[in-house]
Amino acid sequence: MAKLERYITERVRTRTAYHVPPGEPVIKLDAMESPYRLPIELRDRWLYALRDVAINRYPSVDRYAHIKTRLAIDAGLAPGCDVVLGNGSDEILQNLFLATPENVTVVVPVPTFVMYEQLATVLGRPFVGVPLKADFGLDVAALKEALAKHAPAMLFLAYPNNPTGTLYPRAEIEELLAIEDALIIIDEAYHPFAQSTVMDKLATTSQLLVLRTLSKQGLAGMRFGWLAADAIWTNELEKVRLPYNVSSVTVATIEFALDYADVFEDQAKRIRADRTRLYDSLKDIVTVWPSEANFLLFRPPVRQEAGRIHKELNTRGILIKNLSHHSGPLAGCLRVTVGTPEENQAFLAALSEAL
Ligand code: PMP
Repeated sequence: MAKLERYITERVRTRTAYHVPPGEPVIKLDAMESPYRLPIELRDRWLYALRDVAINRYPSVDRYAHIKTRLAIDAGLAPGCDVVLGNGSDEILQNLFLATPENVTVVVPVPTFVMYEQLATVLGRPFVGVPLKADFGLDVAALKEALAKHAPAMLFLAYPNNPTGTLYPRAEIEELLAIEDALIIIDEAYHPFAQSTVMDKLATTSQLLVLRTLSKQGLAGMRFGWLAADAIWTNELEKVRLPYNVSSVTVATIEFALDYADVFEDQAKRIRADRTRLYDSLKDIVTVWPSEANFLLFRPPVRQEAGRIHKELNTRGILIKNLSHHSGPLAGCLRVTVGTPEENQAFLAALSEAL
């Protein structure tokens, strides 16, 4: 124990690690993964592409550059902007914390994606959570006040938000983007399901950084995310990025995925339609919030029952996310990822019985 205290910071010792439940549920609807694998004929083509990957060599920086150019073109990035690649977007978030000075306050509307607070805390950053409104909308005035009071400050906004699924109104985002003094990170992890972006604002907003991931769109196992921003920021983030952070297998897979972008878009389209169907079924039996992401947040009529319901679904092999232990507006809430139509049906049947 004395050794731990000597060599591990108290900030780390007093936190718990990001929890990933063990085991293989029959129906996995807890982590916003895509329920769809690559179609079988594409899987063969993918394996064929992987044959040529030289795993005896470090990844090719030319191929990193090639992927960056393709992403920049697809996103319509303005001249002067550039892309940083990450081993998942989590890694880019970590690098952002590593690159910024310790006195920069991390301002985040809460509840939101837990890694913003986790990383801020273990790296010893001042953290200010600004509560969302009762309907999970942004409290723009409170956010502006916090950013002014705690300057220099970084604002992290998941757009749409996790775990609420809310897509904040564009006018509110633009109001926040007008704050020139803050560094503003818009995390578009769920972009394929919301189809709303602030990439276009990069041309005129030099303090904006936009984060994306391919994890929610069928490639969670590959661990690949990217960030777009004015090159003044990406040049600095390049110094923090580990030299070969994206593996050669991932590089080849991402090139492949970009070639077949229409297949992934088709899957996202199905998920968007199934989200509506799942929402319509849920709203008859629980309180459910509208979502522009690939998941739905809901609360059983008796909120104290959420833990039991979660457990009961689990014993039937259906894993969803239990948020019921949170205090505040998430108390008694559960979150379900949109699965295949069959998975959604099985979930709804099990939920109805558990209720
Ligand atoms: N941002 C948000 C808002 C998320 O919800 C998640 C995943 N839960 C991530 C980033 C991390 O994604 P990745 O798999 O790219 O690390």
